[in-house]
Amino acid sequence: MNRQIPELYGSMIFSDKVMRKKLPKDMYRALRKTIENGTHLELDVANSVAVAMKEWAVENGATHYTHWFQPMTGFTAEKHDSFISPSGDGEVIMDFSGKELVKGEPDASSFPSGGLRATFEARGYTAWDPTSPAFIKDGTLYIPTAFCSYSGEALDKKTPLLRSMEALSDEAVKMLRLLGNETVTRVSTTIGPEQEYFLVDKDLYRQRKDLVFCGRTLFGASAPKGQEMEDHYFGTLKPKVSEYMHDLDVELWKLGIPAKTKHNEVAPAQHELAPVFDTANVAVDHNQLTMEIMKKVAEKHNLVCLLHEKPFEGINGSGKHNNWSLITSDGVNLLDPGRTPAQNIQFLVFLMAVIKAVDDYADLMRISASGAGNDHRLGGNEAPPAIVSIFLGDELTAVLKSIENDTYFGKQEKVQLETGAHVLPHFVQDSTDRNRTSPFAFTGNKFEFRMLGSSASVATPNIVLNTAVAEALAQFYQELEGTRPEDMEHAVHELLKRAIRKHKKIIFNGNGYSEEWVKEAESRGLYNLVSTPDCLPRFIVEKNVELFTKHHIFTKDEIFSRYEILLENYVKTILIEAKTLEEMLSKDFLPSVSAFAGQTAENAAAKKAFLPALSMPAEEALVTKLTETYTALTDGIAELASLVTEAESMDDMQKAAEFCQSQVLSKMEALRLTANAAETLIPDSLLPYPTYDQLLFSL
Ligand code: ADP
Ligand code: MG
Repeated sequence: MNRQIPELYGSMIFSDKVMRKKLPKDMYRALRKTIENGTHLELDVANSVAVAMKEWAVENGATHYTHWFQPMTGFTAEKHDSFISPSGDGEVIMDFSGKELVKGEPDASSFPSGGLRATFEARGYTAWDPTSPAFIKDGTLYIPTAFCSYSGEALDKKTPLLRSMEALSDEAVKMLRLLGNETVTRVSTTIGPEQEYFLVDKDLYRQRKDLVFCGRTLFGASAPKGQEMEDHYFGTLKPKVSEYMHDLDVELWKLGIPAKTKHNEVAPAQHELAPVFDTANVAVDHNQLTMEIMKKVAEKHNLVCLLHEKPFEGINGSGKHNNWSLITSDGVNLLDPGRTPAQNIQFLVFLMAVIKAVDDYADLMRISASGAGNDHRLGGNEAPPAIVSIFLGDELTAVLKSIENDTYFGKQEKVQLETGAHVLPHFVQDSTDRNRTSPFAFTGNKFEFRMLGSSASVATPNIVLNTAVAEALAQFYQELEGTRPEDMEHAVHELLKRAIRKHKKIIFNGNGYSEEWVKEAESRGLYNLVSTPDCLPRFIVEKNVELFTKHHIFTKDEIFSRYEILLENYVKTILIEAKTLEEMLSKDFLPSVSAFAGQTAENAAAKKAFLPALSMPAEEALVTKLTETYTALTDGIAELASLVTEAESMDDMQKAAEFCQSQVLSKMEALRLTANAAETLIPDSLLPYPTYDQLLFSL
């Protein structure tokens, strides 16, 4: 098996190797040019690629093809067409044209559009993205595509991501030219998303409507054991989990997804998978596929993979760490502190651009990690707080301080120093610092954005980050433009100094979970946008609309429609949860409470009949308690139902979202507490669904 892995790896993708083998030389070269430089693809090239793709796909067992896209649902979408084409004599041939490869026309009317498309103009189209490789899955050739309306508005997450990569590349190249770099033609963003997830037994899962409909438990008393022993993190893999992870790796490898690291996470039944990083566009596609395949492989093992941000109360939820950096067309990581002072100028400019970007657009960063699920994590002491800040580590912070104050930098041994007060410090890479409480941490040669929820597409945070950094670079460019090369180092020094003074408020190396930080952040004037309804209105404020429109990422209409979609999504999620809770409590849980109360009362009555002198305070107290709980739950359910009705009647989505957050969720929380307390009184045999101990400790 092991020897076959290199052969197996990428065997289901239309890889560069396959292209080279299958395509005529000139066609191959034209396609490479499109992939590398984004040049327009001529129809004859598309036709040639289509023939090669179909041939390869059919050889590998495919009968169908589909354009694969990422609408605003957060999931992927596909519609399969077979290759067959009647040849007129009752027979068929397998056919696939360049036109079919390049463009598809799915009916777009049933995808969320936030009012962008009037229903009479429901046509949308998908356009091939040649920069992400096509692949075969379950007998179908999948072609990664962008999804737009007929008037060209983006209806998906890929289109703006590609636009943001382009914007960032343009600004980065311009800046590099200014700094004297003549060779770089393109700068790409690289991403390595670490993915957390839970595994639970499928039969147990099926018995809980909350898991089935909402992906999370809406109530359930804590197991006697949680994560307090800290024995799960990096612990030995149980055989069942290990077999799952192995199969998952193999499936991912076939699709050319470089799954690299796997381990147990902090919470019981929680695990993590990390791939080797790739260019943003490919990494985003791969992460979507990874999530899908995680679920699929789990089914085969009689497991269910939970990607929700907070499946269980009282133990950690799941996130996704977005490792992010910039790489030049000649292979230099721009966030890698260099070995020479000149490289360090580059490094410091790009580092500072990221700091500026995150400070100027912290509200957008927060939005990019928002959602009903992730609200349960951010701000809890398990995930970064909802306040966006940057961790730089002591050494880099000191470097910036020395620039700000015109002081020499170089107390520590490993630090080297250039001479001259206005010269940038020279230092070697820092490899020590680790801070798990920071939402945005520099980790040696990349930034790690840690606020993301486990279930969300990584496209959005990267769209924001890329665009914000593009803008920061554009502003720096304006400040430096026209500087003579011999004055550049000094000019950069002065620019950095100004930027540090302005943006150092976003840098925080301390404990992000502490109460003091919340106060400190407030006094620094940083955003603390606690929930999704709190942060979403920031999407449409002028400075943010300006950012996106200036760099051609979103039009104003696209921004407003996305805002609407995000609000709707939030409201719908909470209302589904509320209805599920109502149903579980009234149909399953209340009967249990009642049954146990009745049983206890009956037993007590029987004992009393037998021994009339007996006093039974414990039984009486229990029956009373269960009866009170029954009443409290019944009342609570009715109140929740009327809150749901009220929310559903609201036309203003922002108001509805706020109402869901402040009223519906808190009512649900109160019901959860009551139900949890009751659950501890009722024997497992009378409970209608599996408990936390069974769900978390049965594998
Ligand atoms: P951890 O954060 O758990 O210590 P690593 O730092 O080794 O793990 O890497 C985490 C992720 O960061 C991996 O997916 C890795 O491929 C990715 N990564 C490493 N270098 C870069 C880079 N230059 N750009 C983007 N991602 C990167
Ligand atoms: Mg990490």
